[in-house]
Amino acid sequence: MGGFLGYRCSRCNVEYGPHEVTYICPDDGGNLDVVLEYERIRNASSPAEVSASSDYSIWRYLPLLPVQDPGHEGTPLRAVGWTPLFKSDRIASRLGLHDLWLKDDGRNPTASFKDRASAVVLARARSINAEVVVTASTGNAGAALAGMAAAAEMPAVILAPKNAPEAKVAQLLIFGAQVFLVEGSYDDAFDLTLEAAESFGWYCRNTGFNPFTAEGKKTAAFEICEQLSLVDERSHAPSWQVPDALFIPVGDGNIISGIHKGFKDLQTLGWIEQMPRIFGVQSVGSAAIYNAYKNDTEAIEPVRANTLADSISVDFPRDGLRALRAAKETGGAFVAVRDEAILEAMRILAREAGVFAEPAGATAYAGLVEAISNKLVGASDQVVVLITGNGLKDVRAAMQAAGEAIVIDPTLESLRRALS
Ligand SMILES: *Cc1c(COP(=O)(O)O)cnc(C)c1O
Ligand SMILES: [Zn+2]
Repeated sequence: MGGFLGYRCSRCNVEYGPHEVTYICPDDGGNLDVVLEYERIRNASSPAEVSASSDYSIWRYLPLLPVQDPGHEGTPLRAVGWTPLFKSDRIASRLGLHDLWLKDDGRNPTASFKDRASAVVLARARSINAEVVVTASTGNAGAALAGMAAAAEMPAVILAPKNAPEAKVAQLLIFGAQVFLVEGSYDDAFDLTLEAAESFGWYCRNTGFNPFTAEGKKTAAFEICEQLSLVDERSHAPSWQVPDALFIPVGDGNIISGIHKGFKDLQTLGWIEQMPRIFGVQSVGSAAIYNAYKNDTEAIEPVRANTLADSISVDFPRDGLRALRAAKETGGAFVAVRDEAILEAMRILAREAGVFAEPAGATAYAGLVEAISNKLVGASDQVVVLITGNGLKDVRAAMQAAGEAIVIDPTLESLRRALS
């Protein structure tokens, strides 16, 4: 555990002790960054020491996390993270790049990136003796909490919008969480969980509200640097390697904020030498943060979200400010892509790299295509694209991307005709 010192508000910079606040800044509602005791981490650990760990999960980074070991060895809670980093020369050459990597977080226990956050929030819940954890979710955060809660033997309550994809609702239910489908949007479900947590004394996992979600999500930054140092011949082991550009799909903005925090942690520790350029990718139908980026303002205006990428369909981003800064402070950018480009990204990732992503999960790739055409990324850049969720999460969207199968009679003649 990395010496958890407390929190700092991302808006007003006021610091709070570990027991002074629980969720957001009481003054201005700003998201809180977890403050760690870096000196202590530096003395207690090193990249070489972490790289020697035989724990191939997020828990190998326990020295850099503000929680204690959650136990439950041998359960899915211990299998979160250390997802594969695939090199795709075929897609690289299609895009005119030399060095392209796909970080496939659809390969987590509940098939999305959200497991990272839910696992760390559950570790926190245990240490503050919470009895029930609640979350609002468009599907994946809830499934991740439900699955991790089942593994950690913790009761969970999930509130999701009624229009969540069927497979995600099934996932919520099968893990035995108490599931309520709210007649309304994700934002309506979000507000209701805050009231419920307050009234019933539940611990609230909500994205862009609970400071520990970003601490879980930052582990992806650690993995990217460590895995690149293992597989990339350009790297100078034992120090960890930073890509030139990193593409991340953005809804609430908590994944990109968490990953930015991860790189900042490593830089503060002196474990990496520079930051990657971080690119946030939104759907044009849900582009509140992109709009603020384009207008060069930190005032993020809500939108009426409408995109097939349900996991990034957000009216009012709950972690917009930090998301915006992740791109700005690192020399990256925000880009927005159309739903047709997201469907095309699903086809390309599946057909040319063997990676099946849900729409939001493929969105970062569509953003890379857009960024290349805007000359934000060049041939010499080493690029990592984050795939955040598995395609089986949303079969209907996959069918939309893949088209219909041809029906034939069970005869060779019929097959021959269909082949031609
Ligand atoms: C939640 C989610 C995102 C977006 O994360 P934010 O923190 O809301 O920006 C992207 N892809 C998938 C698959 C997700 O579940
Ligand atoms: Zn504040």
